[in-house]
Amino acid sequence: MNSLLIKDPLLTVTMDPENDNFTSGWVLIKKNKIDSIGTGKQPDADTVIDAKGMVLLPGLVNTHHHMYQTLTRNLPGAQNSHLFSWLETLYEVWGELTEEAVFVSAQVAIAELLLSGCTTTSDHLYLFPSAASKHLIDKEIDAALELGIRFHPTRGSMSLGRSAGGLPPDTVIQTEEEIIDDSIRLIEKYHDPEPLSMLRVALAPCSPFSVTPDLMKKSRELADKYDVRLHTHLAESKDEEKFCLDKFGQRPVDFAESLGWLGDDVWFAHTVHLNDNEIEKLSATKTGVSHCPTSNMRLGSGIAPVAKMLDAGVSVSIGVDGSASNDSSNMLNELRQSLLLQRLTDDRWLSAAEVLRMGTLGGAEILGRKNIGMIKPGAAADLILIDLNDIGYAGSKSDPLAAIVFCIGTQRVSWSIINGKIVVENGELKGLNLKEISDRADKISQEMISRSNKNSVT
Ligand SMILES: [Zn+2]
Repeated sequence: MNSLLIKDPLLTVTMDPENDNFTSGWVLIKKNKIDSIGTGKQPDADTVIDAKGMVLLPGLVNTHHHMYQTLTRNLPGAQNSHLFSWLETLYEVWGELTEEAVFVSAQVAIAELLLSGCTTTSDHLYLFPSAASKHLIDKEIDAALELGIRFHPTRGSMSLGRSAGGLPPDTVIQTEEEIIDDSIRLIEKYHDPEPLSMLRVALAPCSPFSVTPDLMKKSRELADKYDVRLHTHLAESKDEEKFCLDKFGQRPVDFAESLGWLGDDVWFAHTVHLNDNEIEKLSATKTGVSHCPTSNMRLGSGIAPVAKMLDAGVSVSIGVDGSASNDSSNMLNELRQSLLLQRLTDDRWLSAAEVLRMGTLGGAEILGRKNIGMIKPGAAADLILIDLNDIGYAGSKSDPLAAIVFCIGTQRVSWSIINGKIVVENGELKGLNLKEISDRADKISQEMISRSNKNSVT
């Protein structure tokens, strides 16, 4: 297929400041780029998608996830805990990760992301059990390549074990040398800086309470050397804030600043607990944020000041976060949660258009992508179609754009095109047996839980 025409959508949402949204037009894709858009005579193409009654949007961009956690969704012992005790329970099961577990959990998460409109995703794999293969991230990269999603894996890490005052057990941390060596290996093997790259690597020490300041500094040096981005969890919970004040005498944002971790090549997940001065710092340094509303509710972390950040000029995107604190990888649902959660604060409310921008162009900016997140000639051909004929959208046509954010329930996207290739067709993932993947994931999940139970008894 060399050319693909999408014709007559109810609405095309461009996210392009220079081109308004338009009705009853067309978008022509040639190879992996958008060739042209218009409202007049439709050009010919090899393949045509009739999009009557559908909304055409740029694909959604997910900026924070831990795909391996799909294997430990709603674990009974971790259903009703705040972040630190939730982690302490789950570290034991995650300690049983294998290459196969990482591959299958990534298939699960990516399938869910694709069906909910995500065309570019990041992932943060930070747990490397001493007994496991050293190439776990390679396996999630294999899954992303197989399923065809645009991928930003981050090389996560933990180096501060319990014996040294950190939170994770010593059996799931690595030495700084191991982490740095593997970071270099992954960048050199996989990182592609080209404009329409399908895979870019970033570096992501896990959090202030699970790595050493020295590793944060070394990661910064490596990021500068290889021109890759930096990512971590920050200001997620009050416990983390207390940890930073007790251990480093600084609040999390000041701590990050002291390590060279503010800048336009850094994005933080969460930033729930920020004061006005810290919001100002994020804005002035162009540091990005991944807002994860479901996870923040699930773990009782608090409500991130998203409206305040946006008004101060901070770049804010949306992340589903890991599936042990969501417990879903539904990106459309995360847009809706972003809209609703902010309404429980004294801050101003977010509009559907603002949330859609965060979930598309906002994510692209944070990942340093200039050619995704919008529909315009020359941009990557990453597009989704949502069919408003679905029962869940009945009665919503007075504002089709807002319907995408307000009305999502169990609906899937009808079509998803990534890098010019059809990945979801009529609501089904092409070439993938979801039942098989789901069964395999269940089996691996149960095996990991029983192994960890056995270890805790012996
Ligand atoms: Zn996270």
